[in-house]
Amino acid sequence: MRINERVIQLNDRPVNTDARYVLYWMQMYKRVDNNHALIYAIRRANELKLPLVVYEGLKYYYPWASDRLHMFILEGVEEKRLEFERLGIRYVFYLQKEADSPKNTVAALAKDAALIVTDDFPCFVIPEHNRRIAERAEIPVFAVDSNGIIPMSKFDKEEYAAYTIRPKINKLLDRYLKPMPYETIDTPSFGLEVDCPETVVTTDNIMSLVAACGIDHSVSPSEVYHGGTIEGRKRLKKFVEEILPDYDKARSKPDRDGSSRLSSYLHFGYLSPLEIALAVRDADAPQESIDAYLEELIVRRELSFNMTRFNDKYDSLDALPAWVQKTMREHADDERTHLYSLEQLENGKTHDELWNAAQREMVATGEMHNYVRMLWGKNVIAWSPSYEVAFETLVHLNNKYCLDGRNPNSYCGILWCFGKHDRAWFERPVFGLIRYMASGSTGKKFDSKKYIEWTKTL
Ligand SMILES: Cc1cc2nc3c(=O)[nH]c(=O)nc-3n(C[C@H](O)[C@H](O)[C@H](O)COP(=O)(O)OP(=O)(O)OC[C@H]3O[C@@H](n4cnc5c(N)ncnc54)[C@H](O)[C@@H]3O)c2cc1C
Repeated sequence: MRINERVIQLNDRPVNTDARYVLYWMQMYKRVDNNHALIYAIRRANELKLPLVVYEGLKYYYPWASDRLHMFILEGVEEKRLEFERLGIRYVFYLQKEADSPKNTVAALAKDAALIVTDDFPCFVIPEHNRRIAERAEIPVFAVDSNGIIPMSKFDKEEYAAYTIRPKINKLLDRYLKPMPYETIDTPSFGLEVDCPETVVTTDNIMSLVAACGIDHSVSPSEVYHGGTIEGRKRLKKFVEEILPDYDKARSKPDRDGSSRLSSYLHFGYLSPLEIALAVRDADAPQESIDAYLEELIVRRELSFNMTRFNDKYDSLDALPAWVQKTMREHADDERTHLYSLEQLENGKTHDELWNAAQREMVATGEMHNYVRMLWGKNVIAWSPSYEVAFETLVHLNNKYCLDGRNPNSYCGILWCFGKHDRAWFERPVFGLIRYMASGSTGKKFDSKKYIEWTKTL
């Protein structure tokens, strides 16, 4: 049942009138500011004259769980604890390390809650989490959309491409691109007893906490990107002051620090797109750069969220339009000039130095520059025995190594390599009418030698 443009009620249960608190289960919007779910939870708690408990859990068994992803999440915990303390809100963080650790923590917390508020993130494991808690809980569960500038509910179907969603976004932008109101809790809950195990995270124990988890220890933490809103804001400040003025040109140069590099902070919800968009809109920078950035942050990003919200096949080639399906059928048996196994690709052992460099950047840092990311995806299509294998390989590598993976943009970016949200180009082997990108010509558009050498130092 829809409550308002950002809130849906996922089940039809009565509020627990004997409750001790309202529960906000923070899954994806790991921030205190500009968080519509937190604001909704505070409002409901104030209405019911109850305190608010914010719960954030981290389990060991979600797909691609690794030292890299765990570290990035744990690095943001201590600052949230301090922020919530300041706000008078009880914040509970629990790290479920392995199979023997206590589980079903949300269900246990729900027993003393009047209602549950959680995040309406339309991708990866979150929709299933929300479906399950709504089924199991005996109290109302509300999912709140704080993903983008424009609420996802403002679109009623899957948009075909950027050119169809852009005018709709532009019409609504003035209404939504403005600072959000702050809400404060009337009944402080600091020190409230809760039936839930808790993990204390400090800078001193993060490494040992990560080491104790039953996760993939082969993907090491990023030395370049560190989790948390404070880190995200540091990068945002540098971007707005030093990089944005030249963004419209420098963003396609992987050899330069020319884009925001904020996608991981957006993915984990450390920064809201609204905070970034307002900082960019009001920056002292040429209008072309501001417009180019807002096109990526709002139009392209929200097109991805629209796709995963409305297309339940987003994790497969079935999400592609009819013209792509036809051209893939026609070219499925075309000879591939090079074929590489997952292992060769993962280890960056192809004949193509630029591709290997992009792979190296991703494995070492946890991000890959957008310009080479397109080329990276296109080449995996060229070097795989089938389109299906190429898709699986791309999803696996992107989601395993990239901090910003497992996001609507991940699936959309990968499907874009197969023609999603694009138009038909010219017939060529393997790709058919899907746009092709060659390393030779792409590498001439920036100092590819410098980029390749840089990735060797990582
Ligand atoms: C094969 C492939 C895989 C991709 N996987 C991911 C992914 O896992 N996670 C991810 O966030 N992005 C992904 N993208 C999109 C894009 O590459 C990244 O968003 C971008 O590189 C992030 O770097 P940045 O923050 O410096 O971007 P900037 O150029 O500074 O852009 C600002 C923000 O706009 C958004 N954005 C930028 N480009 C795109 C785009 N093409 N589509 C949608 N949103 C965009 C991002 O949120 C980004 O942080 C993928 C693209 C391709 C081709």
